[in-house]
Amino acid sequence: MIFALAGNQNSGKTTLFNHMTGSNQHVGNFPGVTVDQKVGTVIGQKDCEVVDLPGIYSLRPYSDEEIVTRNFLLNERPDGIINIVDATNIERNLYLTLQLLTMQIPTVLALNMMDEVRANGGTIDTKKLSEQLGVPVVPISAIKNEGVQELVRVMVETARRRELPKVHDFCPAGPVHRCIHSVCHIIEDHAQSSRMPARFAATKFIEGDPIVSELLDLHRNDLDAIEHTIVQMEQDCGLDRNAAMADMRYNFIEGVCRECVVKAHESREHKRSVAIDRILTGKYTALPVFALIMLSIFFLTFNVIGKFLSDLLAMGIDGLAMAADRALTAYGLNPVVHSLIIDGVFAGVGGVLSFLPIIVTLFFFLSILEDTGYMARIAFVMDKLLRRIGLSGRSVVPMLIGFGCTVPAVMATRTLSADRDRRLTILLTPFMSCSAKIPIYALFAAAFFARGQAFVMIGLYLFGILIGIVCAKLLNRTAFRGKPVPFVMELPNYRFPSLRSVLQLMWEKAKDFLQRAFTVIFVATLLIWFLQTFDAKLNVVTDSAKSLLAMIGTAIAPALKPVGFGDWRIATALITGFIAKESVVSTLQILLGGAALSSLFTVRSCLSFLVFTLLYTPCVAAVSAVRRELGSGLRALGVVIAQTAVAWIVAFAVYQLLGIWL
Ligand code: GDP
Ligand code: MG
Repeated sequence: MIFALAGNQNSGKTTLFNHMTGSNQHVGNFPGVTVDQKVGTVIGQKDCEVVDLPGIYSLRPYSDEEIVTRNFLLNERPDGIINIVDATNIERNLYLTLQLLTMQIPTVLALNMMDEVRANGGTIDTKKLSEQLGVPVVPISAIKNEGVQELVRVMVETARRRELPKVHDFCPAGPVHRCIHSVCHIIEDHAQSSRMPARFAATKFIEGDPIVSELLDLHRNDLDAIEHTIVQMEQDCGLDRNAAMADMRYNFIEGVCRECVVKAHESREHKRSVAIDRILTGKYTALPVFALIMLSIFFLTFNVIGKFLSDLLAMGIDGLAMAADRALTAYGLNPVVHSLIIDGVFAGVGGVLSFLPIIVTLFFFLSILEDTGYMARIAFVMDKLLRRIGLSGRSVVPMLIGFGCTVPAVMATRTLSADRDRRLTILLTPFMSCSAKIPIYALFAAAFFARGQAFVMIGLYLFGILIGIVCAKLLNRTAFRGKPVPFVMELPNYRFPSLRSVLQLMWEKAKDFLQRAFTVIFVATLLIWFLQTFDAKLNVVTDSAKSLLAMIGTAIAPALKPVGFGDWRIATALITGFIAKESVVSTLQILLGGAALSSLFTVRSCLSFLVFTLLYTPCVAAVSAVRRELGSGLRALGVVIAQTAVAWIVAFAVYQLLGIWL
């Protein structure tokens, strides 16, 4: 049996899903973290699977999340719906419930966050609620794992007996009632043949839902008759069709809540949140505080904690490499294999590996921001600013994730409901410097700007954002005219970050990085080592400038001469960076063979190189994510070319301008 987990954003779906299946999905105090649907087997019920659907407020067909959820319910016809309802916000949550009830699928209502309701003196009469809604209601607290087993038991029972929701009339006799009934009657046969529940189809049709209308494929006569009925209803109750449907649902919910719910008093958490928000989202304080927080995070990551740990790890790896070198020499291993291990694996993978602590530290801070609920505020605060460049506050989430990795960032754009906003955000996320580039910046900053490392880092990040803004402005004037959709989001209460959640995210990122280091980067490293050790006739070269690699790099190098780094080794490093950005470091490390960076770069060309790596094409993984999300390989290719062109132009400008001073 398959159960769908449906509910509003932030109602605790993922928390419940994790408890039901024993998995470790990321739980966030932020709407829109779960975008893909996730499937798991229910603990103790081997033949039952549960699907964590994206959070939605209504079954409209406008955002991707709504469409994913709707299509799943309509096409897959799960054996049961677990409708999770945030009991602290029951009125708003029931709005979705009423639409789910028209789906004609066995449904159980999971009344979540009951711990909070009780703690603040509220009560909910679940028995009465169950009678009024015509479905079983189980009070739970997902976070404390209370009532979850009972919920599973009731769901399995209900699904086995195929008990459908008993109530689908949400309004008393009157114009709305009449209208829904006659529309139901007219479309019944069509709904059946397109496998849609009649009542769902009828209400959605009245709301002018384009997808339902298309599926129903009604005749001219029927359409006229329905239009006539709807207009009649609009006149009789003095509301337009959408308002009439919403009004019907809210009236019903109001009635239900009057009977079943004793409201909790304002919770301590909420009061505290309002107080904190006065500063963190205050008119004058919000942006300075945001800037300060981000600056401290970068400072702590790149100059203090992360850097210290990275140095420590690098020392360890160096020691190990030296010991291995000595041991292999003593053993008298074949020099080519010796070189593979020391110059290839240790120099390449080891060089990249030592940056792990910086990345983990950065994610430690980012996950705290998310978990406390501050990330949601950032979206709210940034909305006004982003609107000026044609984006909405929602775009800030993918962008912040983009500082970690462009792949999930591009995927997170699915939370943007309008196609225009979504595509524009996808094009702009690569300008948010991803964490794989950190090793490059760190290597160069340490070599050329020993004392001002954090400033170089922050400068690069800001520069990326700046160029992103310029590009957004340009795109907004040309291919992406129009306005972003208005931004509505509920701000969750601030809370103390959960250690588990933070550690989990850090672990995920570390795992991800290690996986890349030992797969993609490892292979890239071996390839580079091979190409630079052998020449075209597969003889071992003594001078790497005669190697296969040098030939490829030399072919490209002239194009990079005007931007200040025409050496074949640098061109090669940039090519490997397309596979994975960290490889730029490992390739340079291998090709330099122990020589200092300053033998290849001056301060001037170092800065133009940093700018170039900041802006040039995203890596293969990111490009394939872009291709998937934009739905076209050609557009993805366009992104690669455009980004590289922007990088070249800007790096050229930087190099020429610096030439005036340096
Ligand atoms: P989703 O967006 O619906 O997947 O919701 P999540 O599972 O990510 O949870 C949203 C937030 O609500 C997280 O901060 C959870 O820790 C919190 N939460 C979930 N269940 C409960 C609960 O039963 N009680 C309380 N107090 N908080 C909960
Ligand atoms: Mg979730």
